[in-house]
Amino acid sequence: MSSTRWTVHAALPHPAGASSAARASGLAGRLRAAVGAAKVLTDPAQLRTYECDGLATVRVRPSVVVLAERREDVVAAVRLCAEAGVPFVARGSGTGLSGGAVPVADGVLIVLSRLRAVRSVDPDNARVVVEPGVINLWVTREAAPYGQAYAPDPSSQQVCSIGGNVAENAGGAHCLKYGFTVNHVMGAEVVLPDGEVVHLGGTAPEHPGFDLLGAFVGSEGTLGIATEVTVRTVQAPESVQTMLVGFHSVADAAGTVSDIIAEGILPAAVEMMDALAIEAAEAAVRCGYPRGAVAVLVIELDGPRVEVDEQFRQVERIATARHAFETRIARDAEERALMWKGRKSAFAAVGRISPAYYVQDGVIPRTKLPEVLDEVRRLADAAGIRVANVFHAGDGNLHPLILFDDKVEGAAHAAEQLGFAILDLCVASGGSITGEHGVGVEKKSKMTTQFSADDLDTMHRLRCAFDPAGLANPGKQFPTPRLCGERPGVRTAAEDEGRDAALGEVF
Ligand SMILES: Cc1cc2nc3c(=O)[nH]c(=O)nc-3n(C[C@H](O)[C@H](O)[C@H](O)COP(=O)(O)OP(=O)(O)OC[C@H]3O[C@@H](n4cnc5c(N)ncnc54)[C@H](O)[C@@H]3O)c2cc1C
Repeated sequence: MSSTRWTVHAALPHPAGASSAARASGLAGRLRAAVGAAKVLTDPAQLRTYECDGLATVRVRPSVVVLAERREDVVAAVRLCAEAGVPFVARGSGTGLSGGAVPVADGVLIVLSRLRAVRSVDPDNARVVVEPGVINLWVTREAAPYGQAYAPDPSSQQVCSIGGNVAENAGGAHCLKYGFTVNHVMGAEVVLPDGEVVHLGGTAPEHPGFDLLGAFVGSEGTLGIATEVTVRTVQAPESVQTMLVGFHSVADAAGTVSDIIAEGILPAAVEMMDALAIEAAEAAVRCGYPRGAVAVLVIELDGPRVEVDEQFRQVERIATARHAFETRIARDAEERALMWKGRKSAFAAVGRISPAYYVQDGVIPRTKLPEVLDEVRRLADAAGIRVANVFHAGDGNLHPLILFDDKVEGAAHAAEQLGFAILDLCVASGGSITGEHGVGVEKKSKMTTQFSADDLDTMHRLRCAFDPAGLANPGKQFPTPRLCGERPGVRTAAEDEGRDAALGEVF
């Protein structure tokens, strides 16, 4: 997350233009009548709270905020928006880092964070049913008495919501072994953009027909709003061991990650931090990482005790062969927590060593880690910008934290450009422009780096099947404001120019 606000972007009007502003202002009264006056905010001072998510650089004030407390509130709000042709945006905890929950200026923001009921816990079938505003960590808290846990664990797990996790297909440290959110969601109750309530997926392990739940996961609020989610829980392992390994070179740390996995060992997590990230974490939480380390790995293995013990010996051998100068195994829960504390607080900690920073998120095949990290360093040096790397190394999911001084004219722009150059590098290396933080408003212009016009048309057709009026979170994910009435297929430049001119300054 950027530690400071460094650019104010133009508002994101909906393609319907100025008329939707007028419709939105008339809508507030109807929303109050439908859900109760106390749940509808229009006071500009109150609306300011909702101007941005974790991408604090993009701020747009919505016309109306609905603080939903029940599914019926969401249904009523979406129905009224559909009737009035007013765009709406769902918001969970607002921790997203790509601007997915940034409001539309002329639209309604539907906040789900008050829908926090845990509807059922069913350890025998290893599932938990929750409302969308339930915090990620609470699912594990509910499952823990039965020896179970919820596996996807974003570093924001203490604050981010399950609804937001579903919309972003959130990852986390343990997704290397256990998979991303999509692998742990069994079903969702969804309010479609016209207000109809549907159920996607369900409690059976497999469903015939198209995997619409799979399409919904990661759709960033553009296909509808989840009002209930059924997640899978996993058995807590017999043994968990955590190790901290110090290296004098980033290349050796990165090489160790590939070597471990090439030996057939699948750790629960492999996280990496470079010297600048370590410096920041030490300053913030005194995590006691190896002195003089240019890179550290936090490696966690879990499973049957005998297997974990054996694999730990193998991992130590591999790391030593890659010149690790210190290997520390957590002796108890306290030491384990401290090892993780350094990693988990790294994003916020970077705020201590730089006035501002910008979090990027891309993914590469992990075997390319050494060369890509080298190239990131070269790009950063060429731009004269410091970059701290802290990331899910086992997945090849990079999080370069790009440091800059927001008081220096042009520094924010240079940081953004470096971030985009790193994304280009990820795509050129066989990776993707986002590992787990979504596309949102931040990276939509980079979609064309990765996808052809045909690819984007195909995605757009799917979106239109759910949302023909284009009211659900418009202006996100797609590089141009394509309208659902449009003919899919390759467009001519003339067609694009005409359409974009009609829409005004949207992108
Ligand atoms: C310090 C920090 C560390 C982070 N670490 C990680 C990490 O390790 N892994 C990771 O994946 N992410 C990480 N994130 C990013 C963020 O926490 C995740 O993307 C998270 O899933 C967002 O959840 P949220 O509830 O805050 O959603 P929001 O930010 O409120 O919304 C995110 C998107 O979901 C949509 N949405 C929200 N609720 C619903 C709903 N009920 N139905 C439909 N759409 C909805 C919104 O419209 C928006 O597009 C981190 C963020 C921070 C600040």
